[in-house]
Amino acid sequence: MSAKANPERRLWNEPIESMSRDEMRALQWRRLREQMRYNYERSPVHRAKFEQIGARPQDIASFEDFARIAPMTKDEHRSIQQESLERHGNPYAMMACASPEEIVRINATSGTTGTPTLYTLTAHDVAIVNEMHARKYWRAGIRPGHVMIQALSLSMFTGGLPLSQGIMHLGACVVPVGIDGGTQRVLDIVRLTAPHAIVATPSFGQYLIEEAPKLAGRAASELGFRWFFCAGESGGSNPDVRRTLAEGFGAKVYDHTGGGHAFHGISCEATDDGCDGMHFVSQDHCLLELLDPVTKAPIDLAEGAIGEMLFTFLDWRGGPFMRYALGDLLQVWTEPCRCGLPGMRFSILGRSDDMLSVKGVNVYPQAIANEIFRFYPRVTGAFRIMLDGPGPKVEPPLRIRLERGALDAAQLEGLDAELSAQFRQRLRIRALFEWLEPGTLAREAGKTRYIERIASSARDEPR
Ligand SMILES: [Zn+2]
Repeated sequence: MSAKANPERRLWNEPIESMSRDEMRALQWRRLREQMRYNYERSPVHRAKFEQIGARPQDIASFEDFARIAPMTKDEHRSIQQESLERHGNPYAMMACASPEEIVRINATSGTTGTPTLYTLTAHDVAIVNEMHARKYWRAGIRPGHVMIQALSLSMFTGGLPLSQGIMHLGACVVPVGIDGGTQRVLDIVRLTAPHAIVATPSFGQYLIEEAPKLAGRAASELGFRWFFCAGESGGSNPDVRRTLAEGFGAKVYDHTGGGHAFHGISCEATDDGCDGMHFVSQDHCLLELLDPVTKAPIDLAEGAIGEMLFTFLDWRGGPFMRYALGDLLQVWTEPCRCGLPGMRFSILGRSDDMLSVKGVNVYPQAIANEIFRFYPRVTGAFRIMLDGPGPKVEPPLRIRLERGALDAAQLEGLDAELSAQFRQRLRIRALFEWLEPGTLAREAGKTRYIERIASSARDEPR
């Protein structure tokens, strides 16, 4: 917590971040009990959730009990915001648990569709967000004396100001240039401030690699960055993208998530030899649950478990979320990480509506991507899942088109067998691989669609 942390220290907050799983569960439970009481007393929305199950906070005796409370979906949140706007003149009053005098910041989610989701923070909550940013960057090796350029949007997006403030909290120096003023301005400020690290979207990074020679008169690798922190897009979880950035900038590449609220994670040094996600650094303020996306039954947070994520903010005063469902799919790992840093890890696999069910086994495009990437450079990493129906139900084998690396026929046969075995063991599905030459599949900037639908009816029916 101290702003004068010993730079030799491995973790920003040793006592919390190195807690055992049981100690963390106990801390979460103490905070959850307090939070339930607080939410119930202060927000009609939260109170209604308890009333739906005929319970008061003091009746909830375990995490299992707590799981009886209905999740709040994004759609539900939007309609609450609408009602709040009509009744109170703003969209957050009904969820805000603190009084207006205590609210010091209103954040919005990036909200790509429709009305943004707004939530409120007190000074206490802002301090938590700052703490989480410090924990993440400290793990990556950022220390006081390092200069970091913030090249995300500085507008209301949660990665803007909250992130810059978090860097300052660690004691490092932030240059909050933002990308709102254009690429040339970012490069000019890089020349003038010589930052050690950059925080940007992976696609902006790839763009900089291409444009730096023209706009800055030198290669991206000569800009002096030792760290590239990916944010704001899913690309940072793609080893292909990370490799491009690492080579292009000559920097260590980290993926991280968590803008202005309580769910934060950062990848580690071990990520590149196994895609085992991001270390979850905010468990003391964020209770994570997983649900089966179809049946909505709870799923244990066990090694490799996959489910739709719910989160509940703990020790949070402004607009605490309770069993909030963002519609994201998460995979978690609870066994110790090869990097030696503590804590469970997670990987965001995409939207829960991208899920496939192969003979009753749930499988997600990102999980398939992760398995395929393990075989790089024998594969290029580019692939498509071929579906001849609408999903999510798929009859095995699951058809996957993918690009081979430089292999002869015998090596390819061996690879096919290894990959099939890996899919059976790790994903528990039968797959059929259709091999393509390298470079056959289109590379798209930003979000790659892994699923390709073949219109089987249109193909089979005579015209
Ligand atoms: Zn690790």
